[in-house]
Amino acid sequence: MNDDSGWSATLIASKTGQKMGSSPPLPIRCGPCEKFWRFFEFPFLSSSPGGHSPHPLLASNERPQKFSTGGPPALKLPAYILVCIPSENERVCLEVRNLHREFLRAGSDVMQAFTFYASDDKLINRGNEAGIKYTGSDINEAACRIAREVANEGDALVAGGISQTPSYLSGKGKKSVQDEFRKQVQVFVNNKVDFLICEYFEHIEEMEWAIEVCRETSLPIAATMCIGTEGDLHNVSVGECAVRMAKAGAHVVGLNCHFDPFGMLKAIAAMKKSLETAGLKPYLMTQPLGFHCPDNGKQGFIDLPEFPFALEPRVCTRWDMQRYAREAYELGVRYIGGCCGFESYHIRAVSEELAKERGKQPLSSQKHDPWGEGLKMHTKPWVRARARRSYWEDLQPSTGRPHSAAFSKPDNWGVTAGSDELKQQAESTTNEELQKMFAYNSKS
Ligand SMILES: [Zn+2]
Repeated sequence: MNDDSGWSATLIASKTGQKMGSSPPLPIRCGPCEKFWRFFEFPFLSSSPGGHSPHPLLASNERPQKFSTGGPPALKLPAYILVCIPSENERVCLEVRNLHREFLRAGSDVMQAFTFYASDDKLINRGNEAGIKYTGSDINEAACRIAREVANEGDALVAGGISQTPSYLSGKGKKSVQDEFRKQVQVFVNNKVDFLICEYFEHIEEMEWAIEVCRETSLPIAATMCIGTEGDLHNVSVGECAVRMAKAGAHVVGLNCHFDPFGMLKAIAAMKKSLETAGLKPYLMTQPLGFHCPDNGKQGFIDLPEFPFALEPRVCTRWDMQRYAREAYELGVRYIGGCCGFESYHIRAVSEELAKERGKQPLSSQKHDPWGEGLKMHTKPWVRARARRSYWEDLQPSTGRPHSAAFSKPDNWGVTAGSDELKQQAESTTNEELQKMFAYNSKS
């Protein structure tokens, strides 16, 4: 037990639930992960003057504490080390909670539970084992609980979201698709979320089915599609989609994901016009990408060759986000957020731009001066000269990539629902199937 391998063995033993020795202290709940403190026995360690200090891995865990049985050190009486060793799931919960917290401090008024794509049919699609290991309900339940815990720290709202399903793309029909939605919505109702979001739909028909299920509750409904100025994947215009979402019963309508902030605002303007013509007045909502994608096609950034793992050169600056927030507000959008690529500092930029309208600054602005004014204390004089709005507002940032083109060539896949490639299957994609897919990348 007194060498490093002994520590490892003990650690493994604790993870598998084995306990060594007898009469360990009673387990107590852990504050951060709210599970329980695991305990195990390390004879000779804390009570021996020549004993090892805690293993670095253990020392890095949450709230390590040592308990000695007392007595003369020379007797080397057993000691118990009570230490929280979160399981992988518990660690993920902690990280999710901290992610919510980061956005709360950046000014988010809504904690959107991480329930995106968490329908049972998606969680068993193409080798995904999440639906077998857990269930959609378990995942949605945990997401709601964590979102509420953090929301309560800052008086924020909690929203539960449903999104497009593999069942729709597989052509399984209205009942199957709505059954998937209903299971998620039931969890949201049980967890008393403040409102529902139907997001990331690219077929207005599926969106209407989703809103219909949400209307079985008494909760407010926000509905956003991941489409642009070219309309949905069945060629229904973006304006018509807005009208159909409002008529289906959504209280807030708009767009999310797939398009950059400024491309999205163009589509929102078209939605607004159609809604006004139809005499409808729902609230408007935007949750664009945090990437510049003026070159994307109808399916947005997923058609870009850089999607999803090489998009970083396209990241918007905080100043881009201030411009987005102002333009969205002036267009009449009152639910202004972000989707893929948005980091918490982007949300802080949105919050700071609209601080006057909202009557408050985000918490994290306590350590962030507006428009680079914190640079007044910079050592270098030419950097101090950047402590002003006009510098950052007028800047045209370089990419630092001499071989980069300004635009990429999108794949323009163009397939909607019902094609063989889009059908749901539990089995992982085979190498042979993958080979066939390669052709899509080379056709553009
Ligand atoms: Zn997104």
